[in-house]
Amino acid sequence: MAKSLAVLGSTGSIGTATLDVIAAHPELRVVALAGGGNIDRLVEQALRFRPSLVAVRDGGSVPAIAGRVPAGTRVVHGPDGLVEVARHPEADMVVCGLVGALGIVPTYAAVDAGKDVALANKEALVAAGAFVTARARETGAHILPVDSEHNAIHQCLRGEDPAEIRALWLTASGGPFRTVDRGALAEVTPEQALRHPTWVMGPKITIDSATLMNKGLEVVEARWLFGVGADRIRVVVHPKSVVHSMVEMADGSWKAQLGVTDMRHPIQYALTYPRRLPAMLRPFDLLAAGPLEFEAPDLERFPCLALAYEALERGGAAPAVLNAANEVAVEAFLARRAGFLDIPATIRHVLARCGDAPAESLDDILAADRRAREAASHVLACGVKP
Ligand code: MG
Repeated sequence: MAKSLAVLGSTGSIGTATLDVIAAHPELRVVALAGGGNIDRLVEQALRFRPSLVAVRDGGSVPAIAGRVPAGTRVVHGPDGLVEVARHPEADMVVCGLVGALGIVPTYAAVDAGKDVALANKEALVAAGAFVTARARETGAHILPVDSEHNAIHQCLRGEDPAEIRALWLTASGGPFRTVDRGALAEVTPEQALRHPTWVMGPKITIDSATLMNKGLEVVEARWLFGVGADRIRVVVHPKSVVHSMVEMADGSWKAQLGVTDMRHPIQYALTYPRRLPAMLRPFDLLAAGPLEFEAPDLERFPCLALAYEALERGGAAPAVLNAANEVAVEAFLARRAGFLDIPATIRHVLARCGDAPAESLDDILAADRRAREAASHVLACGVKP
């Protein structure tokens, strides 16, 4: 089962975990890599995996990298470079580990070219799920979720009839502020928010986990991946993250997927699907997992989750607007230009202002994303009122 892979976001958290998995399985090979700002890591990866194509973010770094990668490796750059990697003629599958709305166009390009996609970039489906999934159906491209919750649901649904799903249950760790009261949330720092209790991930998704926006984005993602309406997608807080997610079937039976909290597990599942190969991970120890607790999410303290449901109900460009406003607000929070509670406040303002933008095409979605970013920057610059 030889499989050729193109990896978008190879130097990030998902990308490096993906290359770990590839290195452990000789039947997986790399044909193209797209990295971010970490040029040394990208060069190291190119020397090790010898892809025929490498994409860098900035055109300015092309000369510096071109002399360091193996002879015969072509170097491209910018948004077009990402698309070229996504459409690489030899790739059977594209792994998308890009962060944020940057993933929308390359993910669409991959399914447009008929490539299977191992998708970790939930924002592509949040913003443009209708267009990405419709095009994938037309070209026969499969989307395999890498996001651990959706990967768990994908596993639970193997062999099941989608018409017999009663509800999807996404588990949420609750983040580092699960037990912090609302007053104290106004004062939390980026350092505190970056301390995720169970998963090791990049900074943007870790902040999203602290606000519960990550779970909100995952609700929208689940709607497109599994074709289930918002009223049948539930969120439950499960602090230990041992149960990665669950499915409730029509007959009242529940299925859950459990395992270690290591992203290499869902990555390997997506890369080798439909086969299950031995993994290099430490085995899951059920007895050490201890009592498993579940609680309802608190939408008062974590309004981002409710905002995401609201955007999904509104449909059209609203989820793209929600996502763009969130990205701008999270960046401002990380740069200490905004407080933690300014994140939901900014999103609420921007949704009210831009949520009804047209959504007839992918271009409409990209335009709504741009306008929402401008609106969010404006709201933050003027000082957010809750
Ligand atoms: Mg997740």
